[in-house]
Amino acid sequence: MEQKQLIDEIVKLKKERDAIILAHNYQVPEIQEIADVVGDSFALSKHAANTSHRVIVFCGVHFMAESAKILSPDKTVLLPARDAGCPMAEMVTADRLREMKAKYPEAAVVCYVNSSAEVKAEADICCTSSNAVKVVESVKNKQIIFAPDQNLGSYIAKQVKDKEMILWKGFCITHKRVRVDEVKKIKELHPNAKLLVHPECEPEVQALADFLGSTSEIIKQAREIPEKDIIIGTEEGVLHILKKENPDKKFYLLSPGLVCQNMKKTRLQDVYLALLNMQHEITVEEDIRQKALKSLEEMLKIN
Ligand code: SF4
Repeated sequence: MEQKQLIDEIVKLKKERDAIILAHNYQVPEIQEIADVVGDSFALSKHAANTSHRVIVFCGVHFMAESAKILSPDKTVLLPARDAGCPMAEMVTADRLREMKAKYPEAAVVCYVNSSAEVKAEADICCTSSNAVKVVESVKNKQIIFAPDQNLGSYIAKQVKDKEMILWKGFCITHKRVRVDEVKKIKELHPNAKLLVHPECEPEVQALADFLGSTSEIIKQAREIPEKDIIIGTEEGVLHILKKENPDKKFYLLSPGLVCQNMKKTRLQDVYLALLNMQHEITVEEDIRQKALKSLEEMLKIN
């Protein structure tokens, strides 16, 4: 099927199925264009929790669709690219987290949304990169186990001085690829450019940034700053909205490594087939869902 025909079919099926399409900012442009809502994981979680549609088609990776199912158990949640996972989320398991909890019985567990439902079920509260500092500040315990992203954890630890952060050693394979020498080189090439970086990057890279923030904060910052040259230190999918929203500005990707292969797995054909066959439905065991829901709801109370 040609692209135009695929898009028409998706629009038609979406109506028939009473579906909403949610797409992460890291998706390929054609998926962002057909989506009803494009955003980072926090914005999409909120939409998933509040949507009145019967079906949620989640164009992202597995943990995101799973979070949508946890928040909206009565909806049918479809993940068009069945094998789109997040390597970072797989770096923590519920068993290993339970061992860590046994080692630090006084600690609260703050869990980045990039994690499985089983791991969220073991946490006291979830966070995203948009609200991580606020979430950690809201926790009463002095000791905090933060999982799974070590770089985001160390970024939070620098801002929340009165907490003892015990950091899991997980990482985003995409953001970790950025090297300091690449940062120095691109800054030399564009000396007047502002550098906006995601806190999943290594601390040495973060230290060279003009601004650190989540994907949605980077998009907002790029819109608001007067500079016309901007270097983007997060996954390349955000360039789509940045260029669309800011036609008078020039954007440079900090590193060619900033491409998440899992986020690029979803194609129009997958969305079409998901809607046509109602395929790749996400399910979560009810007792796990209930516990994971508590952690997500605690987070949603913060903003
Ligand atoms: S960009 Fe990183 S954290 Fe996000 S899905 Fe890809 S590997 Fe996971």
